[in-house]
Amino acid sequence: MEFVVQKYGGTSVGSIERIKLVADHVAATRAQGVNVVVVVSAMGEQTDALIAMAQALSADPSRRELDMLLTSGERVTMALLSIALSERGLKCVSLTGSQSGILTDENHGNARIQKILGDRIRQGLSGGSIVIVAGFQGVSPKTKEVTTLGRGGSDLSAVALAAVLGAGRCELYKDVEGVFTADPRLVPGARKIASLPWYAMSELAWAGAGVLHARAAHVASRFGLTVEIRSSFKPHLRGTVVEPSTESDVAMSIDKNGMEQAIVHAITCKQHMCLLDVEASQDAAGKMHAGILELLWHHGEAPVINQQVSGRLRLMVSEKAAQVLKEALATGRLGEKPMSVNLTLAGTAAVGVIGNGFLQNPEQVAEAMAAAQKAGHVLLWDVRNQVLTIGVKDSEAAAVVKSLHDALITDH
Ligand code: ADP
Ligand code: ASP
Ligand code: MG
Repeated sequence: MEFVVQKYGGTSVGSIERIKLVADHVAATRAQGVNVVVVVSAMGEQTDALIAMAQALSADPSRRELDMLLTSGERVTMALLSIALSERGLKCVSLTGSQSGILTDENHGNARIQKILGDRIRQGLSGGSIVIVAGFQGVSPKTKEVTTLGRGGSDLSAVALAAVLGAGRCELYKDVEGVFTADPRLVPGARKIASLPWYAMSELAWAGAGVLHARAAHVASRFGLTVEIRSSFKPHLRGTVVEPSTESDVAMSIDKNGMEQAIVHAITCKQHMCLLDVEASQDAAGKMHAGILELLWHHGEAPVINQQVSGRLRLMVSEKAAQVLKEALATGRLGEKPMSVNLTLAGTAAVGVIGNGFLQNPEQVAEAMAAAQKAGHVLLWDVRNQVLTIGVKDSEAAAVVKSLHDALITDH
C-alpha cells in the first residue's frame, strides 16, 4: 500500500477550523487507499506563548522544564486532530515523540535524533490506523527525559520518520505555496521554485530562510528523499519538490545564458547579527574555537562566518548568541583563562545569495556586489561557490534583498 508522511505546521493547525480542514485533507488522502502518518506542530504561535510564560516566571528557566513545557504544544494538536479524524469515522491514534521511539541525545532545546524505533507507528499502520505523531520532540535514552529538536523541528521529525519508515512520499504543508526565490513576505515579486536540489535547500535554510528546518535538509539528502513543500491552504496545488540532485528548474536559463554560468536559486537573510573577534594564542585557538561552536550548537545556532587566522577567531553570529559567548569567554569557561571579546557590527543583516558556481563566475559576483551596493552599504562580503554572504545594516536588509532579487533572479 502506498504510504505518505504529511506534516502540518503551526499556521496550518492554528485554529479548530484549520484543524477540521487538515482532517478533511488527511481523510481525502486516506480515501485514495494511502497509508498516512501525520506529523503536527503546535497550534499557531503556541510555542512562543509557552516560552513567554516561562520567561515571565524566570529569566533563565531550566532547559529540562522548558522542554516539558514546549512539548505540550504539539500534544494538544495531535490529540485534537485525532479527535477530528475519529469524528470522520477514521481509525487513528496519536503518539508523542517518545511513544514513537524517536531517540535523541540529551541536549535539551536542540537535541539531535540518534535513532527512530517507530514500533508503535508500524503497529498502528498495520492495524489500519492513521498515525498522528507530535513533531519537534523525542526522548533521550540516556537521561530518559523528553527533549525538543530546535525551533521549527517538526520538519525534521517528518523527514526523519519518512526516511526510517520508508515512506514513498513526504509532504510538508505550510502557509506558503512552496519555496520561493525570496521570502514572499519581503519580496512580493518572488516566485515559487518548482524544484530544488537538497544542497541548495540546505544552504538556503542555514542562511536563514525559515521555510524549512536546516537539519531536515541534511537528513533528507542523506537518505536520498524527495520532499514536497506545499500549501495547506491550497493543498491541491503543486508545491516545491526538493530532491537529491536535479537542477531542472534552472536548466532553461543555463541553456539561454551559457552552460557554465552561475545558477542563482534564491536570496535570503538573517537579521540581528554581529561580528565577534577573539584574540587567542595560536596553541589555544583550536580548542577554544571548538568550544565556541559547541556552545553555539547547544543554543541551536551555527555561525554564518567562521574563521580562524593565526590564533584570531572571527565569527558572525546572532546578537543573542554573541552575548552568551561573551559571558562564557569572560568567565574563562571556554579557555584556560578569561578572554575579552570584541563585538562589532551589531545590528547587521547577513544577506545570503544561494546558487552554484560563483567561484567560476567573478562577473556575476561583481554584479551581485553592485546590486547590493545600489541599495545599501556593504559592511562585509564573503564568497563561496554556493553562497555569497553580504553584511548590511538591518535597516537596509529588505532593500538589499529586493535589489539582489531584481538583478540576479531571472524568469525561467
Ligand atoms: P511551518 O510552521 O508550517 O513549518 P514556517 O512558518 O516555519 O512554516 O515557514 C513558512 C514561512 O517561511 C513563510 O510564511 C515565509 O514567510 C517564510 N519564508 C522565508 N523564506 C522563504 C522562502 N524563500 N520561500 C518561502 N517561504 C519563506
Ligand atoms: N512548535 C515548534 C516551534 O514553533 C516546532 C515547529 O513548529 O516545527 O518551533
Ligand atoms: Mg517551520
